[in-house]
Amino acid sequence: MVGRRRLFILGSTGSIGENTLSVIRHLNDTGGASFDVVGLATGRNSARLSEQATEFGADAVAITSSSPAAALDLPTNVNRYEGAIAAESLVREHGQPGDLVVAAIVGSAGIGPVLAAIDAGCDIALANKEALVAAGTLVTARARARGVSIIPVDSEHSAIAQCLRAGNSASEVRRIVLTASGGPFRAMTAEAMEHATLEDALRHPTWSMGRKVTIDSATMMNKALEIVEAHWLFGLGADQIDAIVHPQSLVHSFVEFNDGSVMAQLSPPDMRLPIQCALTWPARAIGCSVPLDWSRLRSLDFEAVDHARFPAVQLAWRVIRDGGTAGATLNGANEAAVDAFVEGRIRFGHITRLVAEAMDALPSSAIASLADVAAADARAREFVRGQVAAQSSIVGARTSP
Ligand code: NAD
Ligand code: MG
Repeated sequence: MVGRRRLFILGSTGSIGENTLSVIRHLNDTGGASFDVVGLATGRNSARLSEQATEFGADAVAITSSSPAAALDLPTNVNRYEGAIAAESLVREHGQPGDLVVAAIVGSAGIGPVLAAIDAGCDIALANKEALVAAGTLVTARARARGVSIIPVDSEHSAIAQCLRAGNSASEVRRIVLTASGGPFRAMTAEAMEHATLEDALRHPTWSMGRKVTIDSATMMNKALEIVEAHWLFGLGADQIDAIVHPQSLVHSFVEFNDGSVMAQLSPPDMRLPIQCALTWPARAIGCSVPLDWSRLRSLDFEAVDHARFPAVQLAWRVIRDGGTAGATLNGANEAAVDAFVEGRIRFGHITRLVAEAMDALPSSAIASLADVAAADARAREFVRGQVAAQSSIVGARTSP
């Protein structure tokens, strides 16, 4: 049993946010742990935010878009924050040392709130991998200086953290291997993938997740982001982090130790388990997901990543080796390319090419502050938007009568 703990969820209406709330219901009901949900932050779903805040008796809420804030259906004593830095203000003003902040905003919008939560002395249960990819140097340095923990929520990193408990220190680790489902296009030819539709990309075979991470899984950019995330979380070099395709999504990653022993973590593909693990870390409580049924398990398959069809993965090692703003460039370019794909402005195959072009065109420079990260992110987005516009005008010119 873990003591009563104050908790914030940033991105509470998303896939990780809703799963976190269902884990909290379970833990509070079963006595596995006890949480006071102090604050909730979301992008624009005011109706759902109001329901959540009412159910959990939150003291404060934050919403990014200002118009729906008026639609918040909450008692007047609930503090409200609205606008671009609402989530950041919420944790800055309400966060206290020892609180836990579940960072589940999608994309680089989550960086500011994560840094604000660290400054407030809160531990971070991190789902928002983009914060580490773009600003890992700042996030980890500030967490160290403030003495707070960053506990992974991402299933692969949760698996690694769990397996690392079997060894004494990072010096006993030879390397870690992150598993990847391979996404919906694992067995598709490069030609077919080039023209895959949004609907195809959103049909993930094993995980149910938010839209952006699902598209990242289809390009396997998600694995690139996760390799960089692992570099920052576990302090490992590029040559100590690998990825392998495992279509069943039951082995969530593994650690190879110096002596040749390998520890893996297995469970069904249900995010409630790594979320709960982060909430109760380092303790464990009775879980709420259906356990693995060994009597029905027939095989665990593994295959090498096909870098020719999924060139996104290799960009990760380049980001780690280049350092500096390379991660912010990769991430900003990817977010802009995914947006362009969702808007129907580019083909699926363009996403990774545009990200690689952005990395070639925008050399990495040192990060001294968040402004350097923001500038690299903005340059990468601008570069991708420029390429998309140029491409559309060529396509437009070709198709015009
Ligand atoms: P989602 O799109 O389902 O939810 C995102 C949440 O963030 C929503 O509540 C949205 O309103 C909120 N949001 C967006 N912009 C915001 C802003 N500027 N300020 C405040 N709130 C904002 O996304 P998700 O699938 O839950 O993913 C969240 C993060 O967790 C991502 O970084 C993703 O890569 C990571 N992750 C997700 C899963 C999963 O199973 N969904 C698994 C591993 C990691
Ligand atoms: Mg993952």
